[in-house]
Amino acid sequence: ASRERARILEMNRAAARFFHECLISPQGKEGLAYFEQRGLSMHTIRSFGLGYAPDGWNHLLGYLQQQGFRPEELAAGALALRGRNGGYYDAFRHRVMFPIIDLRGNVVAFGGRVLDDSKPKYLNSNDTPAFHKSKCLFALNFAKNSGGRSLILCEGYMDAIALHQAGFRNAVATLGTALTPEQVRLMARYAKEVVISYDADKAGQNASQRAIGLLTQAGLAVRVLRIEGGKDPDEFIRTHGADRFRMLLEHSGNHIEYRLASALQKYNVDITEQKAAYLKEAVEILATVESMVERDVYAGKLAETLGVSKENVLADAAALRAKRQ
Ligand code: ATP
Ligand code: MN
Ligand code: MN
Ligand code: MN
Repeated sequence: ASRERARILEMNRAAARFFHECLISPQGKEGLAYFEQRGLSMHTIRSFGLGYAPDGWNHLLGYLQQQGFRPEELAAGALALRGRNGGYYDAFRHRVMFPIIDLRGNVVAFGGRVLDDSKPKYLNSNDTPAFHKSKCLFALNFAKNSGGRSLILCEGYMDAIALHQAGFRNAVATLGTALTPEQVRLMARYAKEVVISYDADKAGQNASQRAIGLLTQAGLAVRVLRIEGGKDPDEFIRTHGADRFRMLLEHSGNHIEYRLASALQKYNVDITEQKAAYLKEAVEILATVESMVERDVYAGKLAETLGVSKENVLADAAALRAKRQ
């Protein structure tokens, strides 16, 4: 099995080279134009080893066969698929390619994006003996050397790449799946704090709530960066620039503030019943805070903005904690 793994890694490296060469050759003109249109510099394209998979059924197959790899091996490495007639064909066609690199610098898999609005927008390699989606984070190989104590966690390849290009070298991304406990463990090896920077849409907000749970359980400090205007980090930086993103980063609240603020959005606190309902939910959130001093800070803020007694908020939260123990 470890021989099979080594062979897949060797093949992936050759494939990554092929895709990158295609991108910068006349054949990859459209792919390169696509990355340029999305604001990526040649330097970024080279550092991330980005590429282009040509349009057609057997460009990579032909190349890798010349290099001594058999079609069955390509299929085992998720680079080729097997058709009904038993023939093999390239898994990635006419897509820009993102190599996924592990902590040892191995190319373990690829993500590929269409150049227009067609579907599916992204394709990832299927899991292979060398790749387990749930145990990998895109760009962690770079981010682990960024020198800080915190990581920025975002949703997509383009978000992580745009952040790196803008100087935020501690950005990583999940690979189109919900955050897993394995990925959390991986981050905990390199960081004390994670700043969640998911898309501003409803899906991103729900995913943030879920990620807060997993990350805090692993003992990580968690902050949540809120992007204004329904965008993702990549779009935000393209529109507003790196400095504005840095401000969002600096102003990102910890996860308790984030949860209190998200809960508040559901209520109109000018209406007495809704104010009471919000406070009930807020007390539930405060009850999850272990430190009394911290609880005191949040209760103080709540009391001030809602015109209620801090002592009562604290007493309710303490009572709820006692009940849960
Ligand atoms: P774009 O390239 O349009 O900016 P994005 O990076 O903003 O894409 P999202 O649509 O927000 O991507 O999705 C986040 C991540 O989820 C992507 O980077 C990709 O890994 C994954 N993903 C998105 N769409 C699909 C899909 N149709 N199939 C598989 N994975 C997907
Ligand atoms: Mn999204
Ligand atoms: Mn995007
Ligand atoms: Mn997005």
